[in-house]
Amino acid sequence: MNQFINQLPKAELHLHIEGTLEPDFLLEKAKKHLITLPFHSINEIQQAYNFSNLQSFLDIYYQGMAVLRDETDFHDLAWRYFQKAHAQGVLHADIFFDPQAHIERGLTLDTVSDGLCNAVEKAKKEMRLSVFLIPCFLRHLSEDSALDTFAMCLKFKKVITGFGLDSSEVGNPPSKFQKVFSQARQEGFRITAHAGEEGPPSFIEQSLDLLHAERIDHGVRCLEDEKLTNRLVREKIPLTVCPLSNLKLKVVNNLQEHPFKKMLACGIMASINSDDPAYFGGYIADNFEACGTALSLTKAETILAARNSFMGSFLDANTKAAYLQKLESYCDEHLN
Ligand SMILES: [Zn+2]
Repeated sequence: MNQFINQLPKAELHLHIEGTLEPDFLLEKAKKHLITLPFHSINEIQQAYNFSNLQSFLDIYYQGMAVLRDETDFHDLAWRYFQKAHAQGVLHADIFFDPQAHIERGLTLDTVSDGLCNAVEKAKKEMRLSVFLIPCFLRHLSEDSALDTFAMCLKFKKVITGFGLDSSEVGNPPSKFQKVFSQARQEGFRITAHAGEEGPPSFIEQSLDLLHAERIDHGVRCLEDEKLTNRLVREKIPLTVCPLSNLKLKVVNNLQEHPFKKMLACGIMASINSDDPAYFGGYIADNFEACGTALSLTKAETILAARNSFMGSFLDANTKAAYLQKLESYCDEHLN
């Protein structure tokens, strides 16, 4: 790993905590809860992680979650991720979790929230890592289900920063969730939405106009629409790009074709993130490195990606400025 990239101060804005479920953790927790998995070894699990598209990944992703049963499991999962993120230069993380995927399995939101919050507190204390929690609504489910989930989440208002929208994009336009996001905004939550990964650029527009998303997760198809691209630049909408995810889910055929460099050149506030790192072959610095090598990103472009990560975060202006200062000092120290 390139030392400069690894230690470069950065924020992670697109990370599903359930997507950090590594094969060894999956086997360990399955054993603990006496759950029979269709896999018997780390090797078999890794072979199952050859996906053909978003849906083929989601099928395994929901299956893997079955091993998360109690508060300790959620704590352990998050703690493992925080340690990795910290070791790869992450100073702040806005992380997603999927309440509906756990409630559907009979867990309570308290179990999930308590486990995650314990790990967040520990990360703050032991690593000075700041973490915001963002529950996502599963877009393949109904808006009524999202509304019920939102009502349940209100109990945890103090520990939730915003709401997101994830899962199967095709056939589930943002317009399906106008009501629930309107309620979330009225309660003062920040809004982000997955759009323009497999879905068309119009889903990015819908997310901005109908859900009033402040940030777009993925958004890599935006360049297909020049008017939209200009709008994203003009309105400084952050895009949380996940190169290794796009490669693994065949959104791009190879990383050399990835639009990230073009997005930066257009002036889009694009950052680099890991999405579901246990499934897609790498954490945030691995994404920086793979993308940097494939697209021959310059040092200036790499630093811009890190800068965009802080700018696009849900941190307040003063904290953002403090992190940007750290980034600048790091670059001064390592480049001169
Ligand atoms: Zn995602």
